[in-house]
Amino acid sequence: GGGWDSSYLADDAEYDDALRPQRLSEVVGQRAVVERLEVFLDATRKRNEPLGHLLLDGPPGLGKTTLASVLPRELGTELQITSGPSLSAPKDLLPYLTNASHGSFLFIDEIHRMPATVEEFIYPAMEDFRVDITLGEGLNARTVNMKLQKFTVIGATTRSGMLTAPLRDRFVRREHLDFYEDVELIEIVRRNAKKLRTEITDEAAFEIARRSRGTPRKANNLLRWARDYATSKADGNITNDIVARAFEMLEIDQIGLERQDRRYLETLIKTFSGGPAGVQALGHSLNIPADTLEDEVEPFLLRSGFIQRSPRGRIVTMAALEHLKLTPPDAGAL
Ligand code: ADP
Repeated sequence: GGGWDSSYLADDAEYDDALRPQRLSEVVGQRAVVERLEVFLDATRKRNEPLGHLLLDGPPGLGKTTLASVLPRELGTELQITSGPSLSAPKDLLPYLTNASHGSFLFIDEIHRMPATVEEFIYPAMEDFRVDITLGEGLNARTVNMKLQKFTVIGATTRSGMLTAPLRDRFVRREHLDFYEDVELIEIVRRNAKKLRTEITDEAAFEIARRSRGTPRKANNLLRWARDYATSKADGNITNDIVARAFEMLEIDQIGLERQDRRYLETLIKTFSGGPAGVQALGHSLNIPADTLEDEVEPFLLRSGFIQRSPRGRIVTMAALEHLKLTPPDAGAL
C-alpha cells in the first residue's frame, strides 16, 4: 500500500513486483517465520491437502504480499488477489470464492478493512468451504447453500488488533513479520542492485540499509532513487558519495528520519510541549489521519526510542531532542 510519505518516491505495485522474491529460498531474513512456513508447506505437500488459512501481520513493506505470492508458487497452485477495502459487499467476494480451485490461494490484503457483512459471508467459506446465498427478495427470498473447493485464505493486516476474534480464530496459522536487521537489508539492497544491473559499493549498500527503517520496501525505494541520482549526476554506479548527495537531496538523514518524521517530532515538542499528546490531536495538527500516524510513522519513532507511549499519549524523549539538536521545551515534562 502507498504511504503518505511516498510523494517523491514511487511506491506502486509495479515497482514492488519487479524486485519481489519468487521463491521461499530467495526471501531474506524472517528466518523463524520462513522455517515454520517450510514445515507447514511440507506437511501440506505430504498430505496432499490445501494449506490451512494463514494470517500475516506486521507494518507495511515487510514482505506480507511477498510471502503470499511465494507460497502458491512453491506448491504450484493458483493465486487470486484482492483487498479488504475493495470488497464492499458479499457479491464482491463471491466470484473469488467460486473461482477458487482445489488447493488454490486467495490473498486478501488489509483484511481488517473488510466490512462486517463480507466478514460474515467469509466465515462458512473458510470453515466449511460453503457459502449461503440469498436469492430473491422479501417473501420470495430463499437461501441456497453452495459448495466451494477447498482453498486457502492468506490474510494480511497492518493491525491485527483490529481483527474481530471470530475472523482471527479462522486462521490456522498466524505469523508476525518484524522489522529487518541492517545486515538483512544490505543483502536485499545488493541482490536488488544486481537485478537492476547496477554497480553498488559495500559502503553504499550499508548507507542505504541504515536509512531504510528496517523495511525492505523502503530499501528498494531508496536504492531506486540512488540509482536515478547516480545515472543523472554521475556514471550510474552507486558509491558512498553518490548516496550521501542523493539522500541530502531527499532530506533523509543518516538514520532514515524524513521530513515528516521531523515534523511529527517538532509538532510534539512545540505544539504539545513534548507531550503527552493523543494521536488524534497530533493527527489534527499535522493534517494526517491518526491511523496513518499509528501505522506508518510511530512504529519507527518508537523503535528508535524517539517517542514513548503513555496512557495519556505520546511523549518525546531526550534522544529525539538530542538527535534534532533541540533543547527541552519544558524539562519538567520529560
Ligand atoms: P507488504 O505486503 O508487507 O507491504 P511486500 O511484500 O509488498 O510488503 O514487500 C515490499 C517489497 O520489499 C517486495 O517487493 C520485495 O522486493 C521486498 N521484500 C519484502 N520482504 C522481503 C524479503 N524478506 N526478502 C527480500 N525482499 C523483500
